[in-house]
Amino acid sequence: MLLEESFILYGVLSFLFLEYLWELYLSIRQHKIYQQVVKVPEELKEIINEETYNKARVYGLDKSLFSIVEEVFGVATTLAIILLNGFVHFWNIAGVIVSDLGYDMNNEILRSAALMLTMNVFNTVVSLPFSIYHTFVLEENHGFNKQTIGFFIKDKIKAFVVGQAIMLPLISGVVYIVKIGGNYFFIYLWLFAMAMTFILLTIYPNCIAPLFDKYTPLPDGELRTCIEELAASIDFPLYKLYVVEGSKRSTHSNAYFYGFFKNKRIVLFDTLLKDYAPEDAIKSDVKDDPESEKKGCDNAEVLAVLAHELGHWKLNHVLKNIVIMQLNLFLIFLVFGLLFQYEAMYHAFGFQHEKPILIGFLVVLKFIFSPYNAVLSFLMTILSRRFEFQADAFAKSLGRSKFLRQALIKLNKDNLGFPVYDWMYSMWHHSHPPLLERLKALDKSD
Ligand SMILES: [Zn+2]
Repeated sequence: MLLEESFILYGVLSFLFLEYLWELYLSIRQHKIYQQVVKVPEELKEIINEETYNKARVYGLDKSLFSIVEEVFGVATTLAIILLNGFVHFWNIAGVIVSDLGYDMNNEILRSAALMLTMNVFNTVVSLPFSIYHTFVLEENHGFNKQTIGFFIKDKIKAFVVGQAIMLPLISGVVYIVKIGGNYFFIYLWLFAMAMTFILLTIYPNCIAPLFDKYTPLPDGELRTCIEELAASIDFPLYKLYVVEGSKRSTHSNAYFYGFFKNKRIVLFDTLLKDYAPEDAIKSDVKDDPESEKKGCDNAEVLAVLAHELGHWKLNHVLKNIVIMQLNLFLIFLVFGLLFQYEAMYHAFGFQHEKPILIGFLVVLKFIFSPYNAVLSFLMTILSRRFEFQADAFAKSLGRSKFLRQALIKLNKDNLGFPVYDWMYSMWHHSHPPLLERLKALDKSD
Protein backbone atom coordinates (compact mmCIF):
# COMPACT_ATOMS: atom_id res chain seq x y z
CA MET A 1 0.00 0.00 0.00
CA LEU A 2 2.77 2.36 0.97
CA LEU A 3 4.41 1.81 -2.39
CA GLU A 4 1.28 2.67 -4.37
CA GLU A 5 0.75 5.72 -2.26
CA SER A 6 4.23 7.10 -2.88
CA PHE A 7 3.94 6.23 -6.53
CA ILE A 8 0.81 8.38 -6.84
CA LEU A 9 2.22 11.23 -4.78
CA TYR A 10 5.57 11.41 -6.56
CA GLY A 11 3.94 10.91 -9.93
CA VAL A 12 1.65 13.86 -9.32
CA LEU A 13 4.48 16.02 -7.98
CA SER A 14 6.84 15.16 -10.84
CA PHE A 15 4.29 15.98 -13.46
CA LEU A 16 3.40 19.23 -11.73
CA PHE A 17 7.05 20.20 -11.70
CA LEU A 18 7.69 19.15 -15.32
CA GLU A 19 4.68 21.05 -16.55
CA TYR A 20 5.79 24.10 -14.64
CA LEU A 21 9.30 23.92 -16.14
CA TRP A 22 7.86 23.58 -19.63
CA GLU A 23 5.59 26.61 -19.20
CA LEU A 24 8.46 28.60 -17.72
CA TYR A 25 10.73 27.63 -20.60
CA LEU A 26 8.14 28.84 -23.12
CA SER A 27 7.53 32.08 -21.22
CA ILE A 28 11.25 32.82 -21.15
CA ARG A 29 11.54 32.20 -24.89
CA GLN A 30 8.74 34.69 -25.54
CA HIS A 31 10.11 37.12 -22.96
CA LYS A 32 13.39 37.24 -24.87
CA ILE A 33 11.52 38.16 -28.04
CA TYR A 34 9.95 41.15 -26.27
CA GLN A 35 13.39 42.19 -25.10
CA GLN A 36 15.28 41.64 -28.31
CA VAL A 37 13.03 42.49 -31.25
CA VAL A 38 12.97 46.22 -30.55
CA LYS A 39 12.52 47.41 -34.14
CA VAL A 40 9.48 46.69 -36.31
CA PRO A 41 10.39 43.69 -38.50
CA GLU A 42 10.31 44.43 -42.24
CA GLU A 43 7.21 42.32 -43.01
CA LEU A 44 5.19 44.16 -40.36
CA LYS A 45 6.03 47.73 -41.39
CA GLU A 46 2.77 48.20 -43.28
CA ILE A 47 0.70 46.88 -40.41
CA ILE A 48 2.05 48.65 -37.37
CA ASN A 49 3.95 51.88 -36.81
CA GLU A 50 7.03 52.28 -34.66
CA GLU A 51 5.19 53.97 -31.79
CA THR A 52 2.40 51.40 -31.44
CA TYR A 53 4.89 48.59 -31.87
CA ASN A 54 6.95 49.84 -28.98
CA LYS A 55 3.90 50.38 -26.77
CA ALA A 56 2.79 46.81 -27.52
CA ARG A 57 6.28 45.50 -26.81
CA VAL A 58 6.48 47.15 -23.39
CA TYR A 59 2.95 45.97 -22.58
CA GLY A 60 3.96 42.45 -23.62
CA LEU A 61 7.04 42.58 -21.41
CA ASP A 62 4.99 43.65 -18.40
CA LYS A 63 2.35 40.99 -19.01
CA SER A 64 4.98 38.32 -19.44
CA LEU A 65 6.75 39.20 -16.19
CA PHE A 66 3.43 39.28 -14.38
CA SER A 67 2.43 35.84 -15.61
CA ILE A 68 5.82 34.35 -14.72
CA VAL A 69 5.51 35.60 -11.13
CA GLU A 70 1.88 34.48 -10.94
CA GLU A 71 2.84 31.04 -12.22
CA VAL A 72 5.61 30.63 -9.61
CA PHE A 73 3.16 31.58 -6.93
CA GLY A 74 0.51 29.22 -8.28
CA VAL A 75 2.78 26.21 -8.41
CA ALA A 76 4.19 26.99 -4.94
CA THR A 77 0.65 27.14 -3.50
CA THR A 78 -0.30 23.83 -5.10
CA LEU A 79 2.90 22.21 -3.83
CA ALA A 80 2.24 23.52 -0.33
CA ILE A 81 -1.32 22.19 -0.40
CA ILE A 82 -0.14 18.73 -1.44
CA LEU A 83 2.86 18.49 0.90
CA LEU A 84 1.10 19.94 3.95
CA ASN A 85 -1.98 17.75 3.48
CA GLY A 86 -4.02 20.85 2.66
CA PHE A 87 -7.06 18.85 1.53
CA VAL A 88 -7.29 17.22 4.96
CA HIS A 89 -7.25 20.64 6.64
CA PHE A 90 -9.91 22.01 4.29
CA TRP A 91 -12.02 18.91 4.95
CA ASN A 92 -11.66 19.38 8.72
CA ILE A 93 -12.59 23.06 8.51
CA ALA A 94 -15.65 22.08 6.46
CA GLY A 95 -16.62 19.62 9.21
CA VAL A 96 -16.34 22.35 11.85
CA ILE A 97 -18.48 24.73 9.78
CA VAL A 98 -21.21 22.12 9.34
CA SER A 99 -21.34 21.21 13.02
CA ASP A 100 -21.18 24.90 14.06
CA LEU A 101 -24.27 25.44 11.96
CA GLY A 102 -25.97 22.74 14.02
CA TYR A 103 -25.88 19.93 11.47
CA ASP A 104 -24.32 16.51 11.58
CA MET A 105 -20.77 16.79 10.26
CA ASN A 106 -21.08 13.29 8.81
CA ASN A 107 -23.63 14.61 6.36
CA GLU A 108 -21.36 14.35 3.35
CA ILE A 109 -23.45 16.54 1.07
CA LEU A 110 -23.45 19.49 3.45
CA ARG A 111 -19.83 18.98 4.32
CA SER A 112 -18.85 18.87 0.63
CA ALA A 113 -20.66 22.15 0.01
CA ALA A 114 -18.82 23.64 3.00
CA LEU A 115 -15.55 22.28 1.61
CA MET A 116 -16.17 23.92 -1.74
CA LEU A 117 -17.00 27.21 -0.04
CA THR A 118 -13.87 27.05 2.13
CA MET A 119 -11.65 26.32 -0.85
CA ASN A 120 -13.25 29.04 -2.93
CA VAL A 121 -12.72 31.59 -0.16
CA PHE A 122 -9.10 30.47 0.07
CA ASN A 123 -8.55 30.74 -3.70
CA THR A 124 -10.24 34.12 -3.93
CA VAL A 125 -8.20 35.58 -1.09
CA VAL A 126 -4.94 34.14 -2.40
CA SER A 127 -5.50 35.41 -5.93
CA LEU A 128 -6.78 38.83 -4.87
CA PRO A 129 -3.40 40.62 -4.77
CA PHE A 130 -2.70 39.42 -8.32
CA SER A 131 -6.10 40.50 -9.49
CA ILE A 132 -5.65 43.96 -7.94
CA TYR A 133 -2.18 44.34 -9.41
CA HIS A 134 -3.37 43.19 -12.82
CA THR A 135 -6.20 45.70 -12.97
CA PHE A 136 -4.80 48.72 -11.17
CA VAL A 137 -1.13 48.52 -12.06
CA LEU A 138 -0.59 46.46 -15.20
CA GLU A 139 -3.70 47.39 -17.20
CA GLU A 140 -3.80 50.88 -15.71
CA ASN A 141 -0.22 51.65 -16.74
CA HIS A 142 -0.96 50.75 -20.32
CA GLY A 143 -4.16 52.74 -20.47
CA PHE A 144 -6.67 49.89 -20.54
CA ASN A 145 -8.23 49.95 -17.10
CA LYS A 146 -11.54 51.77 -16.69
CA GLN A 147 -12.61 50.23 -13.37
CA THR A 148 -12.85 52.35 -10.27
CA ILE A 149 -11.96 50.80 -6.92
CA GLY A 150 -15.67 50.80 -6.02
CA PHE A 151 -16.63 49.01 -9.22
CA PHE A 152 -13.86 46.46 -8.70
CA ILE A 153 -14.90 45.63 -5.13
CA LYS A 154 -18.59 45.37 -6.00
CA ASP A 155 -17.80 43.26 -9.05
CA LYS A 156 -15.62 40.85 -7.07
CA ILE A 157 -18.23 40.40 -4.34
CA LYS A 158 -20.99 39.86 -6.89
CA ALA A 159 -18.89 37.35 -8.81
CA PHE A 160 -18.13 35.45 -5.61
CA VAL A 161 -21.74 35.32 -4.43
CA VAL A 162 -23.13 34.36 -7.84
CA GLY A 163 -20.36 31.80 -8.27
CA GLN A 164 -21.20 30.13 -4.96
CA ALA A 165 -24.94 30.22 -5.65
CA ILE A 166 -24.25 28.14 -8.75
CA MET A 167 -21.35 26.02 -7.50
CA LEU A 168 -22.66 24.80 -4.15
CA PRO A 169 -25.94 23.25 -5.35
CA LEU A 170 -24.04 21.76 -8.29
CA ILE A 171 -21.46 20.13 -6.04
CA SER A 172 -24.15 18.89 -3.69
CA GLY A 173 -25.88 17.34 -6.68
CA VAL A 174 -22.68 15.59 -7.76
CA VAL A 175 -22.05 14.12 -4.30
CA TYR A 176 -25.67 13.05 -3.99
CA ILE A 177 -25.59 11.25 -7.36
CA VAL A 178 -22.36 9.42 -6.51
CA LYS A 179 -23.85 8.33 -3.18
CA ILE A 180 -27.08 6.94 -4.56
CA GLY A 181 -26.11 6.13 -8.15
CA GLY A 182 -24.75 2.62 -7.65
CA ASN A 183 -22.20 1.09 -10.01
CA TYR A 184 -23.18 3.18 -12.99
CA PHE A 185 -23.33 6.51 -11.21
CA PHE A 186 -20.94 8.01 -13.76
CA ILE A 187 -23.66 7.80 -16.41
CA TYR A 188 -26.14 9.68 -14.21
CA LEU A 189 -23.42 12.14 -13.33
CA TRP A 190 -22.80 12.75 -16.98
CA LEU A 191 -26.49 13.30 -17.73
CA PHE A 192 -26.67 15.64 -14.76
CA ALA A 193 -23.65 17.62 -16.01
CA MET A 194 -25.14 17.83 -19.48
CA ALA A 195 -28.47 19.09 -18.17
CA MET A 196 -26.71 21.65 -15.97
CA THR A 197 -24.56 22.91 -18.84
CA PHE A 198 -27.68 23.36 -20.90
CA ILE A 199 -29.57 25.16 -18.12
CA LEU A 200 -26.67 27.45 -17.27
CA LEU A 201 -26.11 28.39 -20.90
CA THR A 202 -29.83 29.13 -21.20
CA ILE A 203 -30.20 31.31 -18.12
CA TYR A 204 -26.81 33.01 -18.43
CA PRO A 205 -27.81 35.75 -20.90
CA ASN A 206 -31.00 36.80 -19.09
CA CYS A 207 -30.23 36.11 -15.45
CA ILE A 208 -26.48 36.18 -14.90
CA ALA A 209 -24.73 38.40 -17.43
CA PRO A 210 -26.95 41.47 -16.73
CA LEU A 211 -25.90 41.33 -13.06
CA PHE A 212 -22.41 42.31 -14.11
CA ASP A 213 -22.69 44.50 -17.19
CA LYS A 214 -25.21 46.72 -18.87
CA TYR A 215 -26.68 45.36 -22.10
CA THR A 216 -28.58 47.75 -24.34
CA PRO A 217 -30.21 46.88 -27.66
CA LEU A 218 -28.23 48.37 -30.52
CA PRO A 219 -30.19 51.47 -31.57
CA ASP A 220 -31.82 51.60 -35.00
CA GLY A 221 -29.56 52.97 -37.65
CA GLU A 222 -27.25 52.02 -40.45
CA LEU A 223 -25.22 49.52 -38.42
CA ARG A 224 -28.27 47.73 -37.11
CA THR A 225 -29.83 47.47 -40.55
CA CYS A 226 -26.61 46.17 -42.08
CA ILE A 227 -26.16 43.56 -39.33
CA GLU A 228 -29.73 42.37 -39.79
CA GLU A 229 -29.18 42.10 -43.53
CA LEU A 230 -25.96 40.18 -43.01
CA ALA A 231 -27.66 37.77 -40.60
CA ALA A 232 -30.59 37.26 -42.95
CA SER A 233 -28.31 36.65 -45.92
CA ILE A 234 -26.84 33.55 -44.27
CA ASP A 235 -30.04 32.49 -42.42
CA PHE A 236 -28.66 33.31 -39.00
CA PRO A 237 -31.64 33.36 -36.61
CA LEU A 238 -30.81 36.72 -35.06
CA TYR A 239 -33.11 37.23 -32.10
CA LYS A 240 -31.50 40.11 -30.26
CA LEU A 241 -28.68 42.50 -30.90
CA TYR A 242 -26.97 44.07 -27.92
CA VAL A 243 -24.21 46.44 -27.09
CA VAL A 244 -22.48 45.71 -23.81
CA GLU A 245 -20.80 48.48 -21.90
CA GLY A 246 -17.39 46.88 -21.79
CA SER A 247 -15.97 50.37 -21.51
CA LYS A 248 -16.86 50.39 -17.81
CA ARG A 249 -14.24 47.68 -17.34
CA SER A 250 -11.53 48.18 -19.88
CA THR A 251 -10.89 49.50 -23.34
CA HIS A 252 -10.19 46.02 -24.75
CA SER A 253 -12.71 45.21 -27.45
CA ASN A 254 -14.62 42.17 -28.65
CA ALA A 255 -17.78 40.74 -30.24
CA TYR A 256 -19.51 37.40 -29.85
CA PHE A 257 -22.77 35.54 -30.27
CA TYR A 258 -24.54 32.96 -28.14
CA GLY A 259 -27.85 31.22 -27.58
CA PHE A 260 -29.53 27.98 -28.59
CA PHE A 261 -31.54 27.19 -31.67
CA LYS A 262 -33.63 30.12 -32.86
CA ASN A 263 -32.62 32.32 -29.97
CA LYS A 264 -29.35 33.72 -31.15
CA ARG A 265 -28.03 36.96 -29.77
CA ILE A 266 -25.12 39.01 -30.98
CA VAL A 267 -23.25 41.11 -28.46
CA LEU A 268 -20.94 43.91 -29.50
CA PHE A 269 -18.61 45.59 -27.03
CA ASP A 270 -19.11 49.34 -27.12
CA THR A 271 -15.32 49.56 -27.33
CA LEU A 272 -15.48 47.78 -30.69
CA LEU A 273 -17.68 50.50 -32.17
CA LYS A 274 -15.99 53.68 -33.24
CA ASP A 275 -19.20 55.64 -33.68
CA TYR A 276 -21.00 54.47 -30.60
CA ALA A 277 -21.23 56.33 -27.32
CA PRO A 278 -23.45 55.38 -24.38
CA GLU A 279 -26.34 57.83 -23.89
CA ASP A 280 -24.86 59.26 -20.73
CA ALA A 281 -21.40 59.85 -22.17
CA ILE A 282 -20.47 63.33 -23.26
CA LYS A 283 -19.49 62.87 -26.86
CA SER A 284 -17.70 66.17 -27.25
CA ASP A 285 -15.05 64.98 -24.81
CA VAL A 286 -13.72 62.56 -27.33
CA LYS A 287 -14.44 64.32 -30.57
CA ASP A 288 -12.89 67.67 -29.80
CA ASP A 289 -9.65 66.22 -28.60
CA PRO A 290 -7.36 65.98 -31.62
CA GLU A 291 -4.69 64.19 -29.56
CA SER A 292 -6.81 61.15 -28.79
CA GLU A 293 -7.50 59.04 -31.84
CA LYS A 294 -10.82 57.32 -31.23
CA LYS A 295 -10.47 53.58 -30.90
CA GLY A 296 -12.77 51.06 -32.52
CA CYS A 297 -13.93 49.99 -35.95
CA ASP A 298 -16.17 51.71 -38.48
CA ASN A 299 -19.36 50.00 -39.65
CA ALA A 300 -17.89 48.07 -42.58
CA GLU A 301 -15.17 46.71 -40.32
CA VAL A 302 -17.63 45.76 -37.56
CA LEU A 303 -19.64 43.87 -40.18
CA ALA A 304 -16.54 42.03 -41.31
CA VAL A 305 -15.79 41.05 -37.69
CA LEU A 306 -19.36 39.80 -37.38
CA ALA A 307 -19.07 37.88 -40.64
CA HIS A 308 -16.14 36.09 -39.00
CA GLU A 309 -18.17 35.40 -35.83
CA LEU A 310 -21.12 34.14 -37.85
CA GLY A 311 -18.68 31.88 -39.66
CA HIS A 312 -18.15 30.11 -36.33
CA TRP A 313 -21.89 29.54 -36.22
CA LYS A 314 -22.33 28.49 -39.84
CA LEU A 315 -19.48 25.98 -39.55
CA ASN A 316 -20.86 24.56 -36.27
CA HIS A 317 -17.74 25.38 -34.29
CA VAL A 318 -19.60 26.01 -31.07
CA LEU A 319 -21.53 22.76 -31.35
CA LYS A 320 -18.33 20.85 -32.07
CA ASN A 321 -16.69 22.34 -28.98
CA ILE A 322 -19.69 21.40 -26.83
CA VAL A 323 -19.61 17.81 -28.12
CA ILE A 324 -15.89 17.51 -27.38
CA MET A 325 -16.45 18.94 -23.88
CA GLN A 326 -19.23 16.44 -23.16
CA LEU A 327 -17.13 13.50 -24.36
CA ASN A 328 -14.32 14.76 -22.20
CA LEU A 329 -16.63 14.98 -19.19
CA PHE A 330 -17.79 11.43 -19.80
CA LEU A 331 -14.21 10.20 -19.77
CA ILE A 332 -13.44 12.10 -16.56
CA PHE A 333 -16.54 10.70 -14.83
CA LEU A 334 -15.77 7.20 -16.06
CA VAL A 335 -12.24 7.29 -14.67
CA PHE A 336 -13.51 8.84 -11.46
CA GLY A 337 -15.98 5.96 -11.25
CA LEU A 338 -13.10 3.51 -11.47
CA LEU A 339 -10.88 5.30 -8.98
CA PHE A 340 -13.12 6.85 -6.37
CA GLN A 341 -12.90 3.86 -4.03
CA TYR A 342 -9.16 3.50 -4.49
CA GLU A 343 -7.68 3.94 -1.02
CA ALA A 344 -4.07 4.67 -2.00
CA MET A 345 -5.21 7.78 -3.82
CA TYR A 346 -6.74 9.22 -0.63
CA HIS A 347 -3.73 8.13 1.42
CA ALA A 348 -1.43 9.97 -0.96
CA PHE A 349 -3.27 13.19 -0.15
CA GLY A 350 -3.25 12.62 3.61
CA PHE A 351 -6.58 10.87 4.24
CA GLN A 352 -6.01 7.82 6.36
CA HIS A 353 -9.53 6.64 7.19
CA GLU A 354 -11.92 8.68 5.08
CA LYS A 355 -12.63 8.78 1.36
CA PRO A 356 -14.63 11.97 0.80
CA ILE A 357 -16.26 11.85 -2.62
CA LEU A 358 -15.54 15.47 -3.49
CA ILE A 359 -11.87 15.15 -2.54
CA GLY A 360 -11.56 12.09 -4.77
CA PHE A 361 -13.24 13.98 -7.58
CA LEU A 362 -10.94 17.00 -7.25
CA VAL A 363 -7.84 14.80 -7.06
CA VAL A 364 -8.82 12.91 -10.21
CA LEU A 365 -9.81 16.07 -12.06
CA LYS A 366 -6.86 18.21 -11.06
CA PHE A 367 -3.99 15.79 -10.47
CA ILE A 368 -4.59 12.33 -11.91
CA PHE A 369 -5.81 13.89 -15.13
CA SER A 370 -3.17 16.60 -15.35
CA PRO A 371 -1.06 14.97 -18.11
CA TYR A 372 -4.23 14.28 -20.06
CA ASN A 373 -5.48 17.84 -19.43
CA ALA A 374 -2.22 19.28 -20.76
CA VAL A 375 -2.44 17.23 -23.97
CA LEU A 376 -6.13 17.96 -24.43
CA SER A 377 -5.65 21.68 -23.94
CA PHE A 378 -2.87 21.64 -26.54
CA LEU A 379 -5.07 19.81 -29.04
CA MET A 380 -7.95 22.20 -28.36
CA THR A 381 -5.64 25.14 -29.03
CA ILE A 382 -4.69 23.63 -32.40
CA LEU A 383 -8.35 23.03 -33.20
CA SER A 384 -9.27 26.57 -32.19
CA ARG A 385 -6.66 28.00 -34.56
CA ARG A 386 -8.11 25.92 -37.38
CA PHE A 387 -11.57 27.23 -36.55
CA GLU A 388 -10.28 30.80 -36.63
CA PHE A 389 -8.82 30.34 -40.12
CA GLN A 390 -12.08 28.75 -41.26
CA ALA A 391 -14.14 31.63 -39.87
CA ASP A 392 -11.84 34.12 -41.60
CA ALA A 393 -12.27 32.19 -44.84
CA PHE A 394 -16.03 32.33 -44.34
CA ALA A 395 -15.93 36.12 -43.96
CA LYS A 396 -13.79 36.20 -47.08
CA SER A 397 -16.33 34.13 -49.00
CA LEU A 398 -18.89 36.81 -48.15
CA GLY A 399 -16.62 39.34 -49.83
CA ARG A 400 -15.48 40.98 -46.64
CA SER A 401 -11.80 40.17 -46.62
CA LYS A 402 -10.67 43.75 -47.22
CA PHE A 403 -12.56 45.11 -44.22
CA LEU A 404 -11.72 42.14 -42.04
CA ARG A 405 -8.09 42.79 -42.82
CA GLN A 406 -8.44 46.43 -41.75
CA ALA A 407 -10.39 45.44 -38.64
CA LEU A 408 -7.81 42.88 -37.56
CA ILE A 409 -5.03 45.43 -37.90
CA LYS A 410 -7.03 48.06 -36.04
CA LEU A 411 -8.07 45.72 -33.23
CA ASN A 412 -4.51 44.55 -32.85
CA LYS A 413 -3.48 48.19 -32.50
CA ASP A 414 -6.31 49.10 -30.09
CA ASN A 415 -5.57 46.10 -27.88
CA LEU A 416 -1.81 46.52 -28.19
CA GLY A 417 -1.26 42.99 -29.45
CA PHE A 418 2.42 42.31 -30.03
CA PRO A 419 2.78 40.78 -33.48
CA VAL A 420 6.08 38.90 -33.04
CA TYR A 421 6.07 35.48 -31.41
CA ASP A 422 8.35 32.67 -30.57
CA TRP A 423 7.04 29.74 -32.64
CA MET A 424 7.00 27.28 -29.75
CA TYR A 425 5.25 29.68 -27.41
CA SER A 426 2.72 30.50 -30.09
CA MET A 427 2.06 26.85 -30.91
CA TRP A 428 1.35 26.02 -27.27
CA HIS A 429 -0.59 29.11 -26.21
CA HIS A 430 -2.31 30.80 -29.12
CA SER A 431 -5.94 29.88 -29.58
CA HIS A 432 -6.02 32.56 -32.30
CA PRO A 433 -3.40 32.50 -35.05
CA PRO A 434 -0.93 35.40 -34.95
CA LEU A 435 -2.04 38.49 -36.88
CA LEU A 436 0.42 38.12 -39.72
CA GLU A 437 -0.65 34.53 -40.44
CA ARG A 438 -4.29 35.57 -40.55
CA LEU A 439 -3.57 38.44 -42.90
CA LYS A 440 -1.54 36.16 -45.17
CA ALA A 441 -4.38 33.65 -45.30
CA LEU A 442 -6.84 36.43 -46.12
CA ASP A 443 -4.60 37.81 -48.86
CA LYS A 444 -4.07 34.47 -50.54
CA SER A 445 -6.02 34.35 -53.76
CA ASP A 446 -8.09 31.19 -53.81
ZN1 LIG B 1 -13.04 33.71 -34.12
